[in-house]
Amino acid sequence: MAYKQKLKVPVGLKVNFKPSEKQFVLWKALQPECHICGGEIVQSLKGNDHLGNEIYAPTCSHCKNENIPQMILAGR
Ligand SMILES: [Zn+2]
Repeated sequence: MAYKQKLKVPVGLKVNFKPSEKQFVLWKALQPECHICGGEIVQSLKGNDHLGNEIYAPTCSHCKNENIPQMILAGR
């Protein structure tokens, strides 16, 4: 089965590769590295819960930042 149809460029489409400051902050938060220094995120042991299970938290291995985005909501 061969498709003959091709994608057509929408009329009047303008692609802007200059993100706004908000778009850049969102892009940084979506990266798998630390959004502050770019370091690797590792799981560090934080203690044990009441059942003795180990509790881990995502932490930057470079700057020790523990404020790692877990959920990112974006809108206008
Ligand atoms: Zn960091």
